Amino acid sequence: MLLEVKDLDVRYGRNHAVKEMNLSVDENEIVTVLGANGAGKSSLLKALHGLVSIQGGTVSFDGNDITRASSAERVQNNLALVPEGRQILVSMTVHENLLLGGYRRQGKDLLSDIDSIYERFPNLGARSGAQASVLSGGEQQMLAISRALVAKPRLIMLDEPSLGLSPILVDQLFELIKTLNKEGIAILLVEQNTKKALEVATRGYVMELGSVVLKGLSGALAEDAGLVHAYLGAQS
Ligand code: ATP
Repeated sequence: MLLEVKDLDVRYGRNHAVKEMNLSVDENEIVTVLGANGAGKSSLLKALHGLVSIQGGTVSFDGNDITRASSAERVQNNLALVPEGRQILVSMTVHENLLLGGYRRQGKDLLSDIDSIYERFPNLGARSGAQASVLSGGEQQMLAISRALVAKPRLIMLDEPSLGLSPILVDQLFELIKTLNKEGIAILLVEQNTKKALEVATRGYVMELGSVVLKGLSGALAEDAGLVHAYLGAQS
């Protein structure tokens, strides 16, 4: 397994956000984590990226224990996070945002990788010198994903990437997720668009109040839509 999470615990004071969670993502796999608001999905991803502290359990990536590694070390280990709400630096240019994504790398390789990002996303290329604030919501999401790509990840964790996007952009986003996966990047996808997420993922986990309440192959979860929706409530 590329990513292996065992008995992971995340607490904020008395609030037990993630409870003894077990999860794995294999090389080249797309795995989705579903759940209603407050189920603990973002806390899981933040803990996996070293942004909130882990109170129990272990995280291993590519065979190395990274439970106590810093965010920067995780990026260097090729584990990237595209956070909820994108969190790009809107007062900086598109190009500066991409340079920041590769701050652990240097030299011409980085610039040529950024050039290939501009080829892949011509809208970003056309606005490379513009402040990121002028980008549309969809372009900002592309920038957030591109910033993660610059670090040359083997696994990208995406936190609700389709949030706030129009249906056409949502379709494009899911196509991009499939393409990145075909290029060899494993994906851990937190989504509120259950249908789309189960279409692209191999396997899924459903969380409720910090615990995994359902898991399995996406096809089986999609067939069990009634049960999945019961856990997701009005959101699905
Ligand atoms: P959403 O889709 O709304 O982001 P989620 O499934 O990602 O939901 P989390 O954001 O991980 O859920 O929240 C899990 C629990 O932890 C919730 O009860 C939330 O209120 C709590 N929580 C999240 N962040 C913090 C924090 N910084 N301090 C205290 N409690 C927090």
